[in-house]
Amino acid sequence: MIFQIIKVFFLLFAIVSFSLIAQESSLEYTIHPQEENGKLSLFVSLKFQGSDEGVTEILLPSSWAGQDELYLEIENLHCISPQTAIEDTEEPELKKVHHSPNEVVQLCYQVTSKVKPEVEWYYRPIIEDSHFFFFGHCFFIVPKMDDISPISISLEWQNFPGDWSLANSFGNQIQKQDLFLPISTFLHAVYVGGDFQILKCGKEYTPIFIAIRGDWSFSTERLTHLVETVIESHREFWNDNDFPYYLITVIPTGDDHHMGGTGLFHSFSIFIGDLSEENEDDWKWLAWLLSHEHFHTWNGIKMMSSPPEGSLFWFTEGFTEYYAVKLNYRSKLINLDDYIEHINTIIYDYYVSSVHNEPNQRIQKDFWNDWDVQRLPYVRGFLFALDWNQKIQNITSGQYNLDNFMLALFDRAQENLGTFSLEDIEQAASIFLPIDLVKEDLKNYIFDGATIFPKNHFDESYSLTWIDDIGFNLLQSISKQKIEGVKKGSRAFEAGLRNGQKYINYQDRRESIVINILDTKGNPREISYLKEMGRNIPQYVLQQAQLEEKLL
Ligand SMILES: [Zn+2]
Repeated sequence: MIFQIIKVFFLLFAIVSFSLIAQESSLEYTIHPQEENGKLSLFVSLKFQGSDEGVTEILLPSSWAGQDELYLEIENLHCISPQTAIEDTEEPELKKVHHSPNEVVQLCYQVTSKVKPEVEWYYRPIIEDSHFFFFGHCFFIVPKMDDISPISISLEWQNFPGDWSLANSFGNQIQKQDLFLPISTFLHAVYVGGDFQILKCGKEYTPIFIAIRGDWSFSTERLTHLVETVIESHREFWNDNDFPYYLITVIPTGDDHHMGGTGLFHSFSIFIGDLSEENEDDWKWLAWLLSHEHFHTWNGIKMMSSPPEGSLFWFTEGFTEYYAVKLNYRSKLINLDDYIEHINTIIYDYYVSSVHNEPNQRIQKDFWNDWDVQRLPYVRGFLFALDWNQKIQNITSGQYNLDNFMLALFDRAQENLGTFSLEDIEQAASIFLPIDLVKEDLKNYIFDGATIFPKNHFDESYSLTWIDDIGFNLLQSISKQKIEGVKKGSRAFEAGLRNGQKYINYQDRRESIVINILDTKGNPREISYLKEMGRNIPQYVLQQAQLEEKLL
């Protein structure tokens, strides 16, 4: 399986502060299924105490995870409580509810799957005869209010078929859930029901549940074992076992070339194609995906970055990506070659990116509009983490490394209601690095977008070598024996080189390249093109002596 599209992110939500309804207020939701014209919908009733002014603003689902107009799935919004009326505003996601001062308001609405985007359809509510799956952001209407202070929220699941599983970020098979948490957490959660198989693993007091549906070629034992290994290694890293409940949802995409996921409160969701038991590469990719999403449990959720959205993606995504791979290496889910290969791919993506010298502000502006910009914080942050790890080790003579900085930042966030800012990063880093260096590095490499040059991090086993930019990832193609990393628009691409073609051999003729491949129909083909001179990419290459040893 080739994962051509791998998109993994965690969305940050802006912290807003409104006090339109009293903070001691609670929200009561009941949800029940109903079939209409052969199509299942979920009916929601919401009760809350209205403001003392007699007008309360409510927010419908709007934009999340690259999806817009999420209110299109909401229908028949109306009031049940007496003397209550809903007024539209100029913004379709914002309504005004008029009611008697301080009265309890009851609203009802219906959610139906309507819009199905070609890709990433799972970021809109899925409501089908056999099951439902949705994120809180796409489903719940909430009163506009301070969304980071905890409030009481009750959630009742009524009249679902007896054989349906029900699970969400807050519990499993519970018909009435009484929660006390911020609205932002309630929304940043996943909710499933229907023909999901619920697997249980983990330890007695820290159980982990996996809600999975669909037909798979692999054994669920292998999946649960992998999940346990990843989760245990992260909890050990953070020295944090405060997880009385944890949920992972696994949704089949039906597309073997695509995987993705989202980190959530005490849970995460992944979207994957089928995996074969035999293909170890598939399992390494899955280990990476699980590790990335699970690392967000801390970097993004237990440590929530301060706004504006996107300004710290280089940290929440880039450092998460760094540790996703590093912790998998430490727990032996991948070997050193896999680890180096992943780093080489990151470096490659960074160097060939058309936006790699863009300032950080460009990420804030265009993260959702431009694929290259979306990838930038992952690769830039990763290389920055690699660099800081080396710097901390050098400056402290090996006494500390980046792990110590991460733990120091976690301590700071815990003292600050689980949030952190750029200043917290600077302060935590200054325990291990001179503060001037910290500020200078952040300014140059993160905010101004100067190129980060990798250094020789891997002692004598791997040396850093500058290779010509030849429009595809040669080292990875040789290692996988199939072409990978072809850059669209490059001379290689124009000459007909494509990801997935079988690699046979390669000749470097100084100014040109000749590659022999088998095309997708198995026909041999020679592809040649001129090099794009003057552009080089650093890659870690196994030293000759060791390479020979490996080939023996
Ligand atoms: Zn992520």
